[in-house]
Amino acid sequence: MALLDVQNLSVSFSIQDRKLHAVRDVSFQLNEGEIIGIVGESGCGKSALVQSLLRLIPSKIETGKVLFDGVDLLQLTPERLRAIRGREIGMIFQDPMTSLNPTMQIGAQITESILYHRLAAPKAAQERAIELLRLTGVPDPEARYTQFPHQLSGGLRQRVLIAIALAAKPRILIADEPTTALDPTIQAQILHLLKQLKMSQIVITHDIGAVASLCDRVLVMYAGKIVEAGTAQDVLTAPKHPYTKMLLYSLPTLQTKRGEKLYAIEGSPPSLFTPPPGCPFAARCPHAMNICAREFPPTHENTACWLHNERNVNAFATDPR
Ligand code: SF4
Repeated sequence: MALLDVQNLSVSFSIQDRKLHAVRDVSFQLNEGEIIGIVGESGCGKSALVQSLLRLIPSKIETGKVLFDGVDLLQLTPERLRAIRGREIGMIFQDPMTSLNPTMQIGAQITESILYHRLAAPKAAQERAIELLRLTGVPDPEARYTQFPHQLSGGLRQRVLIAIALAAKPRILIADEPTTALDPTIQAQILHLLKQLKMSQIVITHDIGAVASLCDRVLVMYAGKIVEAGTAQDVLTAPKHPYTKMLLYSLPTLQTKRGEKLYAIEGSPPSLFTPPPGCPFAARCPHAMNICAREFPPTHENTACWLHNERNVNAFATDPR
């Protein structure tokens, strides 16, 4: 059985009396010890998806289940869900400066989680906090324990956030763009650290390089839907969905010259207030057929695209553009 089994999850937000369909019929499984990367452009629903798993945002669950160890998190009372947050599923957010309490010593911020979940007495919690700072690569952890967030660099602050997320020994770690606010050298160090943890993780990123070095499997999201999924190796070296291909093509390579303009996908994603009935990528896709705008393609071989669907032969035969 998968450690986390997300089934047909749809999530919406109410904005000025209008409904924004942020996550649409998303299903995936996370196995023990596996690292899944979720990639896609800003606004494609990545953060709304993972934050809805733990009901961290005021979203409305339209449909679906989030089974953790067989228990549907969406059916739990607020008290039971609070007991799972941090204790069973830890979370690292994007910006370490705004995620840490600027008025509290970092050591106290780590022990807070240990004490909240009653995992140790105060003295043992302090020892565990120092051990976590050491584990996450914070130099001189005993001295750092009493420092405040503003006394640490961005990279060290992110390590402290990881230490807090690990404090209660969760079984799953969710990292929402954990390296976005950091410079490239520190990004590489944080990704290396996450890899070393050897635990089940969901990592949201728009950095495909991060996926290559860290993840076992990748989910590609577009307009609130998963349009392609597969092993990191398969998706990065042999992408099937046109959006994934264009996303990869837009990355700089070793051959890219200084000052050279990078490829950008023309157009923009559809409004999620009124998502189109067909493939959401149709307006930007160079391969779009008439059927694409009419009907959302069923997923075939982990790819939601009419070009890769068993019905594609009929689609081409009866509906060529
Ligand atoms: Fe392009 Fe059609 Fe495939 Fe969508 S379903 S990605 S529009 S070919």
